[in-house]
Amino acid sequence: MKKKKHLIYQLFPSYLIITLLSLFAVSWYMVSFTRQFYLDRTQVDLRLNGRMLEKQTIRLIDPLNEAAIDRLCKDTAGHIATRITVILPDGRVVGDSEEMPAQMASHLDREEIRDAFQGREGVRIRHSDTLKMDMMYVALPLMANGKLVGVMRTSLPVTAIDERIGTLRTRIAIGVLLVALLASGISWYVSRRISRPIEHMRDGARRFAQGELHHRLPLPATYEFSGLAESLNQMAEQLQQRMEEITSQRKNTEAVLSSMREGVIATDLEQRVISMNSAAAAMFATSLETLQGRSILEVIRNHEFREIMDRSLTNGESIESDILHHSNGRERTLNVQCTPLVDERHARMGGLVVISDVTQLRRLENMRRDFAASVSHEIKTPLTAIKGFVETLNTGDLDDREETRRFLEIIDKHVNRLATIIEDLMQLSRIEQDDEFQQIGLEPARIKDVLKAAIGFCAESIQNKSVDVQLSCEEDLSGTIDATLLEQAAVNLLDNAVKYSPENSPVRIEALTADNEIQIRFTDQGMGIAKKHLPRLFERFYRVDKARSRKLGGTGLGLAIVKHIAQAHGGRITVESELGQGSTFTLHLPV
Ligand code: ADP
Repeated sequence: MKKKKHLIYQLFPSYLIITLLSLFAVSWYMVSFTRQFYLDRTQVDLRLNGRMLEKQTIRLIDPLNEAAIDRLCKDTAGHIATRITVILPDGRVVGDSEEMPAQMASHLDREEIRDAFQGREGVRIRHSDTLKMDMMYVALPLMANGKLVGVMRTSLPVTAIDERIGTLRTRIAIGVLLVALLASGISWYVSRRISRPIEHMRDGARRFAQGELHHRLPLPATYEFSGLAESLNQMAEQLQQRMEEITSQRKNTEAVLSSMREGVIATDLEQRVISMNSAAAAMFATSLETLQGRSILEVIRNHEFREIMDRSLTNGESIESDILHHSNGRERTLNVQCTPLVDERHARMGGLVVISDVTQLRRLENMRRDFAASVSHEIKTPLTAIKGFVETLNTGDLDDREETRRFLEIIDKHVNRLATIIEDLMQLSRIEQDDEFQQIGLEPARIKDVLKAAIGFCAESIQNKSVDVQLSCEEDLSGTIDATLLEQAAVNLLDNAVKYSPENSPVRIEALTADNEIQIRFTDQGMGIAKKHLPRLFERFYRVDKARSRKLGGTGLGLAIVKHIAQAHGGRITVESELGQGSTFTLHLPV
């Protein structure tokens, strides 16, 4: 690229050249004019001198008196400092103020003289061989009675003029030099004045380009530059406004994106990440800073995800699917929605992926499905039994009263079981509903009264198994509770403790305040529960030993009810158990 020149280095030399050229032109003109002026004046002088002697000379030519002519020339020349020469038509010199005419050659070859013999004034400037200097010659035709009788030539050296012109030239040169110096100073000053505001504007524009949009250009005094600076300032202001708008829009979008619980990722057609929100980064355990421009498949190493992305980007179709993803040692179900990303002209520019963590949702859905299956299964067993015995009764001998009574007792047992299951289920859904709509009536009540009532409720089974129930609770320990629900939870826990303990073994109920909560512990020394069952113990219909539970009249819903009651109080239930040693179930309620 051609090297750029500074404006001042273009303006300054131009000004200087123009000034110098003008100066030279003017001086040249002046010198030539002056020289011409002097020459013209010399010519006029020479002509006048010639004319002055014209008549006298003509008289001396006709009749010819050479000596008189020569004397006239020599005498007059002394007064007027002019060389005078008189030449006859044959070219012979008959009078000369400087030389002896007899020794002088024919002058017919002199141009000025030839002009004069042709009847006009002859004027020449040339070197005189006789006087060895530059001379101006003016030759006048001498006419007598209309006849050309000779030529009167007057001449003066022009060296004096050249000397004067030389001096003039030196003076003018000095003058020109001084003026040129002054002009170059002025040119420099003017060039600076023009280029400086432009330099300021250039610097300002550079600062704008570097993002310093708050910067403002000073307004130069020149009308055009000031207009330009003003326009640049306006442009910067508008740019700043637009940038602020864009930044605030971007911040809003970022705020929206980062507040979303769903992960959002935008990619280009090459599957490089354009943008990703923090939820997505957290889901895939990656950091936002390192993502920009990286391939999404590098960031999310998941085979199913890759397939969905590929399909969506290749075919431009919207795809929704659940994928399993392992990160941070956890398996999660992610719902991935992949839609083509289009620009304002509806051209495809990449893909938009919205990811929701549906682990919990899918787990609940599974639980619901399992629950429905479990309920059907639990209900089906007694129903099948009832149906079997009713058919047997129908087809059998009803007169066998003993057999009939036995069958009816079995039917009654199954009906009771059905009723218990349905009652437990209804209770469970009631608690859930009340909790959901916050209709649980929590009010201060004494814990000991609730526990006593529960023991009273279980009195029969306690007595049947001769279990020794020990209650330890401060009289004035009270909590904000729903007494009926809490009694139900206590009954379920106490009933289990009695059910799964051998005869004559102790069951301890202990209520106290610890760790800023009310803890009610139910400790038995019964059969205990193996570790692997503990995490699922509070699920509906989960039983460690189905047959035993059923035999003991259990529905597998007791602990699920307890869990919901605890949650409805804003608390929780925990269990510690050792197989063969016994179990401790603890209700934790907020104070
Ligand atoms: P169930 O009606 O079968 O008792 P629960 O929901 O009350 O159902 O209890 C679930 C399972 O937990 C029971 O089937 C039983 O195996 C186990 N379980 C509950 N409480 C105890 C306990 N105190 N000791 C040993 N096992 C227990």
